[in-house]
Amino acid sequence: MGPQGVVGGGEAFRFVGARRRLIEEIRRKGIPDLEVLQFFDRVPRHEFLPEGVWNRSYEDAPVPIGYGQTASQPSLQAYYLSVLKPRSDESVLEIGTGSGYLTALLALMADRVYSVERVRELSQRARQALDAQGFSNVALLVGDGSIGWRKYAPFPVVVVSAAAPSVPPALLDQLADPGRMLIPVGSPDRQELMLVEKEAGVTRERLVQEACSFVPLLGRFAWEVEDP
Ligand code: SAH
Repeated sequence: MGPQGVVGGGEAFRFVGARRRLIEEIRRKGIPDLEVLQFFDRVPRHEFLPEGVWNRSYEDAPVPIGYGQTASQPSLQAYYLSVLKPRSDESVLEIGTGSGYLTALLALMADRVYSVERVRELSQRARQALDAQGFSNVALLVGDGSIGWRKYAPFPVVVVSAAAPSVPPALLDQLADPGRMLIPVGSPDRQELMLVEKEAGVTRERLVQEACSFVPLLGRFAWEVEDP
């Protein structure tokens, strides 16, 4: 179980108005299912970002989080959640923990979240933020998410937040039947967002959004790591 109505700490009130405005902005831009917006009201995004960028926490934009990585744009994350709609009895595999903000949103919706990140420091920071916000249904792993997390497979929901050259076979294997996955596929600087659905042994891929831009997925079934 995730926390109920998480908003803690002395800084919390400073950001309430900004958070409401962000939610309004996402609503105006439109997503397939507005129900997911309630979860954005329950997670203080700034608590997942480095203090130096707190003033940008509630802009609908990607924000640098160090190590050459960025926290994704909130409206894009709202889109992810509204397409995938993890249910309270489902486990989720997330590739690219990053700040841990989407992890937190997923944890409010799903039963358990298993999230893999290749940068140890980011995973550690996400752990601290998730603990501070009282999340107890999240397991984090430092490693190459392009090979998934076999120990807890299969997963009815798989969320990939970094761009792959193609759908990594291990993630397809670890997707439950029935199951659904969102993954940006394409070149390092431009991708298409693909919805992969498995049902009765058949896997279908469908383009759901053109021209998105994610940081690259680096790993065995992804882009080569330039300086390991
Ligand atoms: N949802 C996150 C997105 C972070 S950006 C957020 O909003 O904060 C994508 C993340 O994927 C980066 O932190 C990057 O380090 C990570 N990443 C890249 N390749 C990876 C791999 N093979 N396995 C796990 N994580 C990876």
